[in-house]
Amino acid sequence: MGPVRVLELYSGIGGMHQALRESCISAEVVAAVDVNTVANEVYKHNFPSTPLWAKTIEGITLAELNRLSFDMILMSPPCQPFTRIGLQGDVSDPRTNSFLYILDILPRGKLVETLKKCGFKYQEFLLSPTYILENFPDQEPKASVKHRVAAGLEKESSFTSPEEEHIEPNSGSDAGSGQCSQKEAFVFKLETAKEMERKRNQDSDLSIQMLKDFLEEDGEEMSQYFLPPKALLRYAFLLDIVTPSCRRSTCFTKGYGHYVEGTGSVLQTAEDVQLESVFKSIEMLSEEEKLMKLSTLKLRYFTPREIENLHGFSPEFGFPDKITMKQRYRLLGNSLNVHVVAKLISLLTG
Ligand code: SAH
Repeated sequence: MGPVRVLELYSGIGGMHQALRESCISAEVVAAVDVNTVANEVYKHNFPSTPLWAKTIEGITLAELNRLSFDMILMSPPCQPFTRIGLQGDVSDPRTNSFLYILDILPRGKLVETLKKCGFKYQEFLLSPTYILENFPDQEPKASVKHRVAAGLEKESSFTSPEEEHIEPNSGSDAGSGQCSQKEAFVFKLETAKEMERKRNQDSDLSIQMLKDFLEEDGEEMSQYFLPPKALLRYAFLLDIVTPSCRRSTCFTKGYGHYVEGTGSVLQTAEDVQLESVFKSIEMLSEEEKLMKLSTLKLRYFTPREIENLHGFSPEFGFPDKITMKQRYRLLGNSLNVHVVAKLISLLTG
């Protein structure tokens, strides 16, 4: 049999293509489809020989698809219609239309029946970037198989853009732990004892790599990533602050580096400074004193390259020079964890 012919829908910057390569199966992406012109430039830059269709998925005809005679579809359609903090429009959200179109033109009901008759099984996975928790309807193989990947990137509640959210303390806590009860007392920095303990536990899990393994060398260009005073004063209490020796971060979403709240962790580069000593009783201080204290933490954003590293993109992956910082964060925030998907592709084809 020749290489598996893969159709990559919603291809973005090519996270799926990266994962396909990492999975080491013999495969060829016969077409990648996305409407986003900026994403497409990045895709072309990294996968120049892959046919890229810059069009909407609804605009593809069944005949065009059939001509590709593909064996596998890899896709991560927009998740915003389904996220907890989003509008929860589900299939009534227009952003779901293209996916419904795909389901419609591929005779799904028939397809599943045929596959089942031929002895195929289908599997559903409940995913977190820290673990792949396997959840099989037919209980086979057993649930609770955990696969650990890279650094502990927590799934965050917020996949919606902060423009769509109203700001609430702790709305950036992760989906797994549920809504934080309003009654729980904050220890400092709007964090409850329970949340702090959860983070401490994750940071002491030696099986997960430290963030320092994913960081770029310190250099002059780093200065552009430090949080400006205005952001520090305004958002310090809402930030998820991590140090290079942490083994967790929150999920980096598309507003990162621009909207501060709930979009991803920031890095405390002054490792010897105790967070508690900075935040205890800080409310009592003048703005100027607050700023002085907060500045001792030397907080910076993760760079796009560091987020690529955390997402498992290979060192060869890159952006064309003209793609701006804001665009890079946006595109990366929409992408996926390459290691997790590579593992899934191996399971699927193994
Ligand atoms: N897996 C991709 C990103 C998926 S995010 C990556 O690794 O980067 C969803 C992508 O779907 C976005 O790039 C968006 O531009 C694209 N998209 C959304 N609706 C679309 C439609 N109707 N037709 C084509 N592309 C669409």
